[in-house]
Amino acid sequence: MKSPFHLSKSAARTTTVAIASAAATAALTIPGLALAHGGHGHGGAVPAPPTNPTSDSQIQNIDQVKTAIKAYYGDTLTTTPDPVDASTMLHQFSADGAYAHQTERIAARAGHFLAHRAHHAKGHKHGHGRPAVVFDIDDTTLNTYSYEIYSSFVYDPASNAAFVNAGSASVFPAVPGMPALERKAIKKGYTVFFLTGRPITQLTGTEANLTDAGYTYDAADLYLKDASGATEPWLSSCAPSCTTVQYKSLTRQHIESLGYRIVANLGDQFSDLEGGFAKHTVKMPNPMYFLP
Ligand SMILES: [Mg+2]
Repeated sequence: MKSPFHLSKSAARTTTVAIASAAATAALTIPGLALAHGGHGHGGAVPAPPTNPTSDSQIQNIDQVKTAIKAYYGDTLTTTPDPVDASTMLHQFSADGAYAHQTERIAARAGHFLAHRAHHAKGHKHGHGRPAVVFDIDDTTLNTYSYEIYSSFVYDPASNAAFVNAGSASVFPAVPGMPALERKAIKKGYTVFFLTGRPITQLTGTEANLTDAGYTYDAADLYLKDASGATEPWLSSCAPSCTTVQYKSLTRQHIESLGYRIVANLGDQFSDLEGGFAKHTVKMPNPMYFLP
């Protein structure tokens, strides 16, 4: 089976950096890590249907896809009421399901990789900044399966905000393996950043949820989106309508401008991973939704 975990060379700011990045990537032979081709590999993902299908045979049946998603996550009914009006009980993924096993494998491999890189950096005098790791939040560090089931896979800002603002791991639990990966990264000397498209108005709930799910963070290293750009001047070129790729890559550029070298950028959407300013990218599984 092709590994969903892949490392890809990021588009770099300058030719010099691109060469250095390519050399560093080529020098690594970590068992179990597949190198992506081009800026972003698809990690063995099922091809998307055509934009303009000409036959139904080009499109999967939506009910069968939903059934497969539930089986992949190991759908489990809990006794936690929904945070909207407590009229239903939440569903969660199973700790022993295929999804949990897959994310644990990816996190373990990423941990080995980061440890290897930290060890490698010790033996070579690097003047490229302090090593850092960037984590996306939704479905990279916190799992939102409960919301997808609650909403029948239809995003609604109001009900989603209720889930986010619950700030609870009973609502959005940790993605399996990721708290341990964060601890390992910190232990190996990496500074951990969280970079999410959640609006800045959801800061309190986001902080509470990260803590409840077992993560640690420095408030200064937690980036939520201020769409106005008022508090994030590095977004001035695109605010107030930055695309996800613009928002995330410009923020990574800002982080590197503070003196960090982003060794790995982890996200569940390709738009988390494109746009450069990271030596390597790690794609987390998410068959539930697609964010361009
Ligand atoms: Mg995400």
